[in-house]
Amino acid sequence: MNQEYTAFWFRRDLRLDDNAGLFHALTAGKPVIPVFIFDQHILDDLPSRDARVEFIRHALEELQAQLTKIGSTLVVKYGKPENIWAELVGQYSIQGVYTNHDYEPYARERDEHLAEMLREKGVAFHTFQDQVIFEKDSILTQQGKPYTVFTPFSRTWKSTLTPEMLAPFETEKHFSEFWKSEAQQIPSLASMGFSVSGLSFPPRIPDKEIIKVYDEQRNFPAVEGTTRTGIHLRFGTLSIRKLVRVAKALNETYLNELIWREFYMQILWNFPHVVNNAFRPEYDAIEWRESEEDFRAWCEGRTGYPLVDAGMRQLNETGFMHNRVRMVTASFLTKHLLIDWRKGEAYFAQKLLDFELASNNGGWQWAAGSGTDAAPYFRIFNPESQLKKFDAQGKYVRRWVPEFGTPAYAREIVEHKFARDRCLEVYKAGLAGAKV
Ligand SMILES: Cc1cc2nc3c(=O)[nH]c(=O)nc-3n(C[C@H](O)[C@H](O)[C@H](O)COP(=O)(O)OP(=O)(O)OC[C@H]3O[C@@H](n4cnc5c(N)ncnc54)[C@H](O)[C@@H]3O)c2cc1C
Repeated sequence: MNQEYTAFWFRRDLRLDDNAGLFHALTAGKPVIPVFIFDQHILDDLPSRDARVEFIRHALEELQAQLTKIGSTLVVKYGKPENIWAELVGQYSIQGVYTNHDYEPYARERDEHLAEMLREKGVAFHTFQDQVIFEKDSILTQQGKPYTVFTPFSRTWKSTLTPEMLAPFETEKHFSEFWKSEAQQIPSLASMGFSVSGLSFPPRIPDKEIIKVYDEQRNFPAVEGTTRTGIHLRFGTLSIRKLVRVAKALNETYLNELIWREFYMQILWNFPHVVNNAFRPEYDAIEWRESEEDFRAWCEGRTGYPLVDAGMRQLNETGFMHNRVRMVTASFLTKHLLIDWRKGEAYFAQKLLDFELASNNGGWQWAAGSGTDAAPYFRIFNPESQLKKFDAQGKYVRRWVPEFGTPAYAREIVEHKFARDRCLEVYKAGLAGAKV
């Protein structure tokens, strides 16, 4: 008789431990074939030196090493998921495909189509909540509506949380359920059209000493005061349940940041229009400036504002930018240069190793004033006072802008007071004329 299997599809959950969907697959009673697909729909749009593809490949190598030890193997394919699944269910007698929820618009559509295609072939598609503690519409106001302001959301998040929600899924007790097979190859970067980036990646386990003093240190970009877990949460090499347990024990401010992540995820789920439009529709009436020259100067860190330039260069060189500096650079592009937040958002999306559609969009709309919970538009960051407050010694700036303080350093591309007044005028006119 044909051997029947269950398949587990890894996507944004590249770990064997404490993985909800994997746990359910392993306890479904059939040998489990673990699968990863390098999705051509996504990869085709990326530049050839995209370090995130390299990060994923490293994570798969680690998974492969763990699986090989127990006589199993990961099946890694390159192609379009609909074709790969058609091929896999034709090759093996797969009864069910298990996976974890993915909340981004592309993923939602992909999963809907796949579920239907598999159903037609008699294969069930089971999905589980894994990458957040509260998903979709599981935290609502008393009126049954999604929250659009962070503080009440976080209050309800905390009061609804129970210890069981943070309990790990004990996958390791069921590793004998993985199918037995010779190790299979993982496609090389080159075979998929990618090259090595030369960037380095932060460690998977966040430093507890940083978390303990997070509230005191997190705002100073010259200090190693944040945990760099973004990329690990993005690709699921770290379990959010594990991280929330640590945060709860060590630092409330750190926990709040993890809740910001969930806040923006539920915003994206409940208000998908934010992907292309302002959360507050009246902000779509603002007349943004078109200036390729100013935009390039911002991208390349040549604005003459040291904190902005340092941030953009850190981003370009390392794929990371400190949160305080993300706020300052985003504010500078949208308010001082009056360039559409969508252009900045797209640039960050291309460069950030920890790029996350929900948080990136939320951060940009916050900076532009068009988002949930945004500071009123007339509050405009002064990049010079931000520098004095958060990098008073200029340590961070000098690390990224070595010519800072020398005649070789760029002149300010726009004068602060002029830019501030222009911004207020254009925003005011846009909002007054908005037809919503
Ligand atoms: C314009 C702009 C764009 C941003 N783009 C992204 C993005 O693409 N991906 C992303 O993960 N974060 C983004 N953020 C939020 C924040 O800047 C990063 O999460 C943080 O800097 C990542 O560094 P870290 O891992 O050391 O974070 P830590 O400070 O150590 O925080 C731990 C984790 O909490 C979460 N977190 C922290 N701050 C926020 C926040 N404000 N909003 C949502 N989640 C948060 C992240 O998952 C982060 O990894 C953006 C912020 C702004 C202002």
